[in-house]
Amino acid sequence: MSKLKIAELFYSIQGEGRYMGVPSVFLRTFGCNFKCAGFGMPRGELSNEADEIADVAHLYNKYEELPLVSTGCDSYASWHPSFKNLSPVLTTDAIVDRTLEILPENKWGDVHLVITGGEPLLGWQRSYPDLLSHPKMSYLKEITFETNGTQKLTPEFKTYLKQWSQNPPFASREITFSVSAKLPCSGEKFEDAIKPEVVCEYEEVGTTYLKFVIATEQDFADAECAIGAYRAAGFKGHVYLMPVGGVESVYALNNRAVADIAMKNGLRYSDRLQVPLFKNEWGT
Ligand code: SF4
Repeated sequence: MSKLKIAELFYSIQGEGRYMGVPSVFLRTFGCNFKCAGFGMPRGELSNEADEIADVAHLYNKYEELPLVSTGCDSYASWHPSFKNLSPVLTTDAIVDRTLEILPENKWGDVHLVITGGEPLLGWQRSYPDLLSHPKMSYLKEITFETNGTQKLTPEFKTYLKQWSQNPPFASREITFSVSAKLPCSGEKFEDAIKPEVVCEYEEVGTTYLKFVIATEQDFADAECAIGAYRAAGFKGHVYLMPVGGVESVYALNNRAVADIAMKNGLRYSDRLQVPLFKNEWGT
């Protein structure tokens, strides 16, 4: 039986992208290949908020107790080594049982599954077939992978997903890749973060869209450059612009400005409903 290291497992409303507003189970895996310490910082500077909290990691016993950050990665505990003790390694059986416990009436119904991170397409690809093929998961119809778009699908997992989307009891199931490609404002290098050939491969398996976090006109100029690279590689999906802001004070500063940029350029706007609805607290 496969195992996964799980940072969080919770039921909420999807706040971003294509499924905004849809009731969803979020399975947050542990581990990421990035740090994204540049978010919310003056360009070129890196946040040390996550490291400062990590210095006193022993004070926290569960995710709900962790402080929110206004700079850097807002899900820092899902990859920072100092918090790995908060993320248990669970068997797929245990994950499925916990998932059914938090579903309304213990049924999937219209609830969709979000596999997020961290970066969920790191080594965990080998464990997802056991999870998704579990008999108690047979009524799951829609799944989204929230990825930073840098990890290739393994040939085995790619084949598995194509089969999963076609198998009974449904004529077809829906697979989505929500690609939050990281621009230089994240603190990550453009050449490390923008991998058009990887994202084009996701399109062979499921509906794939790009989502860029924007704070300034310069960020949008970077996004245009990235969009050009994806399109040149053959990417056909939609593009969303989303305001920066893991806390309400930052989000409220630029959500309207980002909506205006999206409208002016004929691109989609994605809100971050989890910020106004739930203050972006852990477990929401
Ligand atoms: S890719 Fe996502 S989870 Fe990883 S550090 Fe960046 S924002 Fe955080």
